[in-house]
Amino acid sequence: MHILEASVLSTILLLFIFFDVRRYPLPKQDKGSRFFAELAVTYTCFLVLNIMLHGASQNLFRLGLWEARILWALHVLSIPFLLTLWVHFSLINVAEDTRQVSRFSTLLVLPLVLFAFLVFADLPVQQFYPATPFFTYIWTTPGSSYLFILSSFLCLVMLISPLWNLKTLQGSKPFLAFLLPFTLSIALATFRITHELTLFVTVNSFMLVLNYLVVHRDAVVLDDLTNLSMGPLLQRRLIKAFRNRSQYSLLLVDVENFRLFNSRHGRNTGDRMLQELAAYLKTMPYNQEAFRLKDDRFCLLLHQASSALECAGQLQRRMEDPWQLGEETVYLSLHLLVIHIPEQASSFDELMYIIEQMLQQVKTQQSTSLLVYDANILKVHQHRLDIISALREAIRRPEQVQVYYQPIHDNKTGALSGAEALMRIQNNHLGFLQPDQFIPIAEQTGLIRDLTFIVLDRVCALLGRHPKVRQSIQSISVNLSAEDFTNALLAHDLLEHIQAQGIAEHLISFEITESMIIQSHDTVKQVMHTLSSYGIQFALDDFGSGYSNFSMLMDLPLHTIKFDKQMILKSPESPQLLALLSSMLHALGKTITAEGVACKEEALMVQALMIDRVQGYYYSEPLAEDRFLSLFANCAGCPVLNDI
Ligand code: C2E
Ligand code: CA
Ligand code: CA
Repeated sequence: MHILEASVLSTILLLFIFFDVRRYPLPKQDKGSRFFAELAVTYTCFLVLNIMLHGASQNLFRLGLWEARILWALHVLSIPFLLTLWVHFSLINVAEDTRQVSRFSTLLVLPLVLFAFLVFADLPVQQFYPATPFFTYIWTTPGSSYLFILSSFLCLVMLISPLWNLKTLQGSKPFLAFLLPFTLSIALATFRITHELTLFVTVNSFMLVLNYLVVHRDAVVLDDLTNLSMGPLLQRRLIKAFRNRSQYSLLLVDVENFRLFNSRHGRNTGDRMLQELAAYLKTMPYNQEAFRLKDDRFCLLLHQASSALECAGQLQRRMEDPWQLGEETVYLSLHLLVIHIPEQASSFDELMYIIEQMLQQVKTQQSTSLLVYDANILKVHQHRLDIISALREAIRRPEQVQVYYQPIHDNKTGALSGAEALMRIQNNHLGFLQPDQFIPIAEQTGLIRDLTFIVLDRVCALLGRHPKVRQSIQSISVNLSAEDFTNALLAHDLLEHIQAQGIAEHLISFEITESMIIQSHDTVKQVMHTLSSYGIQFALDDFGSGYSNFSMLMDLPLHTIKFDKQMILKSPESPQLLALLSSMLHALGKTITAEGVACKEEALMVQALMIDRVQGYYYSEPLAEDRFLSLFANCAGCPVLNDI
């Protein structure tokens, strides 16, 4: 094959790559892609120069003296320039450490710059690398020796770097990394012997196509486990969609707590579950493409906004039913996100940011939940982040935590029998935060564990400082969260905090909810038994708002049952039921507290129901520490309510 034909053929190959890149753009931030693009452009220049010089040597057109010299100089220069880019490209694929690459780059650019200087300085003199009339290569010139030595050196670097990083090379990378210097060296040796660049041109084209297919079209490689396309292909599709402003909807599917699924059912079942899910996604009856982005995260790319929601609905319904994996029957929960482009994200980077924020938000929700993007989501998320930092700050500076005390009264005598400690946070930026603004977030982030102890310490300090409070009340109750029970030393730590301040244990009681007991029954039971043996009492909070499971109450050392406000409100509808419940609980030896008693009618109602204790706005709202203490200021014994 003649050099001209080889160059034309190579140009055609490059054109194919170019069209393919137009269809599936290379990832922008990727350094490998950048070097590849530079390489392809330089090689194209090299080919064009080649074709022009050979055209001129065949007398297809005429070149002036200086034009010929400049073209020749550029052509000669493009050879080591191309090789240097190959070195960079191979380094970035082999080392992936950009520092290593830039260190080499500086080293390699120096002889190239010197060569360029000599070639251009030689233009008028024509001693270093003279342009021959028929553009043939003469090996006796100092320039050609320099070129050969430099090229050999570059091939050597291309060979050494993969050898150096051999251990870390995976897949087809070592093959490509060694094939490149090997074939280029043969091409250069042939060039030196035959004075023909044909093989060099062919090798360059061949390696470019091979690298493009293997390194850059890796996106077309399917995921081994699920046979779905992977993230890079989606990325290219999206970049192209943004460029053309095409409309798509993305449905992101994230398996909830997949790590837990794996540890509960084993990795094999986990893998089978992902395969089943992937197969299900692939066959969903909407015009869509499915991708596996990473371990337990999938994405559907849909052409119509409405079908994203339909898909999400179908997935939600499917998750209500179990999956049969061989012998095992398992349930799966998903987090689903829907976002439309280009209306809701105008660039790929923005889309990634939004998805990340939405994922963090949807993860705070439970079981198969759907989050459809709207502009508020980012605001809500930002607010959540603000709350998290306020919580962290409050833990660092506990003076920002304020404890309010809501009195609990004896329903017969009106005497103050105790109080519930309720937390608030005073933050410099966000102001005064109520529990419903921060407790759920503190629980999701685990920060509640520290906050619980801050509240407990504060309550103990109050009891320690004020003997009158100690003498007047039975106990002050502190709320516990399910998250607190993830601390294996919870009972020990709670006791330690109480005893550290020399407070009699029975002065503290703890409130827990049914859902906590259901979540970690054995741990809760163990903690309750340990603390009960020290005289600490437990109250079941919010009874009547959840499952109201009696067997649970029998099993645990619960002293008090706190009827949720809802129970009291419902009492006119079913007074016998509530009366029966009260007498049953009394028969079981439980004390009943009515919560949220807000008006006189409700107060009268709880009196009729023979409820032992009352708490609510009607008697008192939660009070800041000084106001709570003032209740004890003017009375000799225990403060008593007069106006019930
Ligand atoms: P909770 O444990 O059920 O506390 C009772 C809530 O009812 C308090 O709200 C109290 O202010 C409110 N309340 C009292 N009387 C009435 C009334 O007559 N009507 C109505 N509608 N509400 C009344 P608060 O202080 O906003 O606390 C909300 C929730 O935050 C608490 O509900 C509790 O679950 C949680 N919480 C508060 N402080 C802490 C804490 O220190 N630790 C933990 N883990 N949770 C806490
Ligand atoms: Ca409570
Ligand atoms: Ca409650």
